[in-house]
Amino acid sequence: MEMVPGVHRVEKLRGGNAYLLADARLTLIDTGMPGGAPRVLSYIRSLGREPEELDHIFITHGHMDHAGAAAELRRLTGARLVAHRDEGVRTPDGALVLRGDPNGEAGLLVRAMSRLGRFEPCPVDVAVSDGDLVPCAGGMRVVHTPGHTRGSISLLLEKRSILFAGDAIISNRDRLSRPLPFGTDRAESERSLARLAQLEFDVCCFGHGPALTSDAREAVAALAASPPKTPLWQRIVFRRGDLARFGVRMFKE
Ligand SMILES: [Zn+2]
Ligand SMILES: [Zn+2]
Repeated sequence: MEMVPGVHRVEKLRGGNAYLLADARLTLIDTGMPGGAPRVLSYIRSLGREPEELDHIFITHGHMDHAGAAAELRRLTGARLVAHRDEGVRTPDGALVLRGDPNGEAGLLVRAMSRLGRFEPCPVDVAVSDGDLVPCAGGMRVVHTPGHTRGSISLLLEKRSILFAGDAIISNRDRLSRPLPFGTDRAESERSLARLAQLEFDVCCFGHGPALTSDAREAVAALAASPPKTPLWQRIVFRRGDLARFGVRMFKE
């Protein structure tokens, strides 16, 4: 589905949202769950494009619902995999690899997802840092937004005022919210959210849920300015419908 010109959400994909940016070349942001590669490739072909045109695969963070098909897609397309330098683990020879446990410990979220698929470790070709500008899609600015995981990044297409926030913010059907803090550094998450609210953008695409295609910065700023007042258990009970939908998308679109 084309949300704004040249920015597509790959449909019928399990897990988090994956976005395809169709320019002179192709760029992918996140990949969904393991097994999703054929679906991404058929979406590319449905646009009259070829998988070999995919040059970069950005991973907003290493959870299985975002990076699960990364290794397979990298292999099938020859695209370079881009992730934050703190997100993976280093092999003895210094190479960076995503393993599906971005914080280095098997927290509740990672343990739950590991039952839904096998994470194939994926080499990182381009290890980025805050402020880097990757030359694709007209220039992709890396914004380090740690908290949900240590190496979470958001991506800003400055020339088009489009932000990809990963799981730093969750979009529900009727409102924005913070991700539930399983395995999360909450103070760092708040700082990252405050930082996103300072950026210039009109459109915001999220790791889960519908995009905001206008006035997105105002909505993000309003969320950042209203820290949660209720205890966690109350929010879980209140949002059980959203959580059920989230769980269902791990199995099917
Ligand atoms: Zn996610
Ligand atoms: Zn996540």
